Amino acid sequence: MPDILSLGECMVEFFAEEPLAEAKNLQKAFAGDALNLLAAASRLGSTCGFLSRVGDDPFQNYLLNGWESLGIDTSHVKRVQGRNGIYFISIYGYGERDFTYYRAGSAPSTMTPEDLDPDYIAQARVLHISGIAQAISASARATALAAARIAHEAHVCVSFDPNFRPALWSAEEARAAAEELLPHVDIALPSGPEESQQLFGLTTPQETADYLHGFGAYAVVVKLGEAGVYVSAEGGTGTVPAFTVPHVVDTTGAGDAFDGAFLHGLVQNMPPLDAARLGVVMAGLKVRGRGAIASLPEKSEVEAALAAWERKSDMLA
Ligand code: ADP
Repeated sequence: MPDILSLGECMVEFFAEEPLAEAKNLQKAFAGDALNLLAAASRLGSTCGFLSRVGDDPFQNYLLNGWESLGIDTSHVKRVQGRNGIYFISIYGYGERDFTYYRAGSAPSTMTPEDLDPDYIAQARVLHISGIAQAISASARATALAAARIAHEAHVCVSFDPNFRPALWSAEEARAAAEELLPHVDIALPSGPEESQQLFGLTTPQETADYLHGFGAYAVVVKLGEAGVYVSAEGGTGTVPAFTVPHVVDTTGAGDAFDGAFLHGLVQNMPPLDAARLGVVMAGLKVRGRGAIASLPEKSEVEAALAAWERKSDMLA
């Protein structure tokens, strides 16, 4: 039975090195914030399970086999009639990435609270909810809330990343959805400063943390891109700088990699600041390569980089 569960949507990705109008070859992959997080936690050794739906189109086995090959339990991914979400990434201009989504009506967006198995959720250590899961449909939003309620009542830690996407819904809707969930949330993993400003109208990481603590979250980590993370938690508050690498290739999924490693650290009983250090190293190593999942580092690489980083910090202290 998995320690870390995550609820949301994973889509099929097609990547082109050129604008879609010119591209002849596209590379297939899969990604989605809820799944990327599990891939990162599983890479570090956590047992993980995905809560979602998968459609019976020609991508079904590709997705299920791919998730399983990452070590993710798919026993509670409901197999349904319908299609899976697809998105295209293309490169234009000076390496800018363009995202085109075919997601409306996807199988995961038809999730309902009846999909949930309370016994499966109750045995986990952490249930993670993504704001994107709340955004994709009213029934997925209801499913996210129902899952958080089940977990909260069973004393399973509930984690939440708002991951606000203005293309999916308005800031007002996203804020209302966040606020209905937050009374059940123990760990909040927002981003700043733009996301916190757009969603909550708050500027500083401390203001964002205070606002989220006000709903009951005992740990808040505000992800600040190249500035690292601000941790506000029982057992440790402070800023952890980013783990910088010489060549940044692709920051897509950096926040998910952080979240997965951070939750893995907490499940290993690390204090929040230590778990955040693990998270920034995971995310820093990820941005060296393309793709949310393909560029995740191996566990041994993360451990070696973390040890070297800590030795350097000790020497400079
Ligand atoms: P999100 O993707 O959720 O918006 P961020 O952009 O804040 O999240 O990135 C999450 C984490 O990934 C950051 O806190 C940082 O540790 C790491 N990260 C992001 N961009 C870089 C970068 N250019 N170099 C090194 N680490 C990075």
